[in-house]
Amino acid sequence: MPPVVKHFDYLVIGGGSGGIASARRAAEFGVNVALVEQARLGGTCVNVGCVPKKVMFNTAMHAEMIKEHKDYGFDVQANGFNWGVVKKSRDEYIKRLNGIYETNLGKSKVETLVGRATFTDDGCVEVSGQKYSAKHILVATGGHPFIPDIPGSEHGISSDGFFELEDLPKKVVVIGAGYIAVELAGIFNALGADTSIMIRYDKVLRTFDPMVSDMVTQNLEHDGVKVVKKTQTTSVKKEENGTLTLETTGDQITDVNCLLFAIGRDPSTQGLNLEKQGVKLDKKGHIIVDAFQNTDAKNIYALGDVCGKALLTPVAIAAGRRLAHRLFDNKPDLKLDYDNIATVVFSHPPTGTIGLTEVEARDKYGDDNIKIYSSVFTPMYYAVTSVKHKCCMKLVCLQPEEKVIGLHMVGQGVDEMLQGFAVAIKMGATKKHFDETVAIHPTSSEELVTMR
Ligand SMILES: Cc1cc2nc3c(=O)[nH]c(=O)nc-3n(C[C@H](O)[C@H](O)[C@H](O)COP(=O)(O)OP(=O)(O)OC[C@H]3O[C@@H](n4cnc5c(N)ncnc54)[C@H](O)[C@@H]3O)c2cc1C
Repeated sequence: MPPVVKHFDYLVIGGGSGGIASARRAAEFGVNVALVEQARLGGTCVNVGCVPKKVMFNTAMHAEMIKEHKDYGFDVQANGFNWGVVKKSRDEYIKRLNGIYETNLGKSKVETLVGRATFTDDGCVEVSGQKYSAKHILVATGGHPFIPDIPGSEHGISSDGFFELEDLPKKVVVIGAGYIAVELAGIFNALGADTSIMIRYDKVLRTFDPMVSDMVTQNLEHDGVKVVKKTQTTSVKKEENGTLTLETTGDQITDVNCLLFAIGRDPSTQGLNLEKQGVKLDKKGHIIVDAFQNTDAKNIYALGDVCGKALLTPVAIAAGRRLAHRLFDNKPDLKLDYDNIATVVFSHPPTGTIGLTEVEARDKYGDDNIKIYSSVFTPMYYAVTSVKHKCCMKLVCLQPEEKVIGLHMVGQGVDEMLQGFAVAIKMGATKKHFDETVAIHPTSSEELVTMR
């Protein structure tokens, strides 16, 4: 290996949400920063995650609303949907974002190194045949979709493949019960594909509050998605006409044009030579860190999806920025509080959730200390529509002062409703604070401050 070509104060491996945020924040403090990226800048969120997913969710929203136009008196006819049109604009938008990230890194004076990073045995980092050293090294390498080891699984795609589809498949089977499976199945279905979602148990989103998992499962069925329950695919065969036949623990499924696995993500730690540095991994390969994002190796840190906790873009960004302040801005106690992180699932209609589920709260504090407020209603948007979706909301409160420790909801508009309530909950709001807030009428959110 040739000698070290350059030394940095901070070297960040991974140009995704967490890595870019941490690198740019560190550079603000006048330190010498490099960021290594092997693929497109922006990582999962920008290229194969939140951003293109939200474009497709918005597309699906159009498909749904078109159907409701006539109930509102509009004589509009949808003459078809062209997946290629939205894919082209979506790809162009992402390309622009990739460019903006590059420009911003340059403006921040972060040196971008292109290639796959590997630790050398002597604690340096090798990228494209060059060796670099650094005082502090951050591993923010994210994750990638897990594909099961069953015969014929290579004929399926993952969420990454979803964003490469050139056309809307006619018949789709999505395997998985987590948020990515729910979101992608919802998009396929709304846009007109014959869609099934295959799940191991009887509900999707099983780690969410039971009210949420029940409602989202019902909504999928209500919207025409076939929820294939308590079933697993055992093998996949590609037929001569190009369609797939799935053998399952239940019925055979034939004529499938697209099989999508969304059954989890693995951390991207392979090939980094982390063990040699003394960085410890858990059984699934996630990097083990303490509350300050320190790994077991001195001056090596990790954050974001590669650590396997709260796999969300704003979490990676927040952890990355706090780490930069701690290391280079003399804020030794700064760390991310992983409690009460609000999150939205772009189901149809969307889901918003923060804090403890009812089950978690009862387990933690005991039944006597928990008071639940809940409500199910039909939002006014559906007053004149023939197709209706209910909205459900739940507040999980801790006695005696009824501190709100969980808020869960499914319904139109809750995706945009949650952030403000998250502030209140983070500040320690009680049910009384909610009740003392005068409602905004007529909205769905008023229900949250009028529940009895
Ligand atoms: C389909 C989908 C939808 C999602 N929707 C949302 C959403 O709506 N909201 C939300 O908050 N989150 C969402 N997420 C999750 C979000 O994308 C991730 O939590 C976030 O991107 C994690 O950021 P990160 O920095 O940890 O890793 P990443 O963004 O994955 O970045 C890691 C980067 O490291 C690079 N890398 C890996 N190994 C190396 C190496 N050895 N050398 C150099 N570079 C390397 C990778 O190429 C990648 O660019 C979604 C994810 C998916 C898959």
